[in-house]
Amino acid sequence: MAAIEEIFPRIYGIPLGYVNAFLLAEEDGLTLIDAGLRGNERKIWKAIAGIDREPDDVRHVLVTHHHADHVGSLAAVKESCGAEAYVHPLDAPIVAGEKPRPAANRGSITGRLFGRLIERLPAYRPSPAAAEHEINDGDELPVGGGVRVIHTPGHTAGHVSFLVEGHGGVIFAGDAVGNMFGRIGKPLLMYTEDMDEAKQSMRKLAELEFDTACFGHGRVLKGEANVAFRRYVENMAR
Ligand SMILES: [Zn+2]
Ligand SMILES: [Zn+2]
Repeated sequence: MAAIEEIFPRIYGIPLGYVNAFLLAEEDGLTLIDAGLRGNERKIWKAIAGIDREPDDVRHVLVTHHHADHVGSLAAVKESCGAEAYVHPLDAPIVAGEKPRPAANRGSITGRLFGRLIERLPAYRPSPAAAEHEINDGDELPVGGGVRVIHTPGHTAGHVSFLVEGHGGVIFAGDAVGNMFGRIGKPLLMYTEDMDEAKQSMRKLAELEFDTACFGHGRVLKGEANVAFRRYVENMAR
């Protein structure tokens, strides 16, 4: 698997095993979206070298949510390049280590059986990282060529998605929507704090205009991605 994949000019995917990070590459600096598992920083630097840029060019890290596979290397990335982190206020205290991570969803059988076990794995215990910026629904961030924040709670309370204009619109949906088995779907119940709210957030995303969707897990969906979202939510049970 390549260290970095061009989605569009200046928009890249960084595959980190089963989770993805993304990169918005502007002349005046790089914006990373999510930061993989603990220990992934070397893969991130390799990806950045692959487009002839330097780790020090990373200025901003936009965080979709507090889960360990999205903020695992946040502390390490911040430490080595001084980038500033952007996190929704409902997830920021968890990312900063001021509040414990909520337990796996007890409504899920897998969560009941394996939740505690998985939470003890070192990769699932990221070093805490403080956020320099609080981000809220509707914010237009002057980074990465312009990024709109969409609050998409449910998977976690402070989960956000990011919408970038151009190329018909590109949504970075984090774990608000899954694309694990070649088709879009709900996030995994085991790791989702409130599934009803998560469904509501999927409906909210489906109303937006975007042609391409990028996911925390699974492949990029190119071409009328929002039509696929709309079709999915229409058939989704309430
Ligand atoms: Zn997640
Ligand atoms: Zn995830």
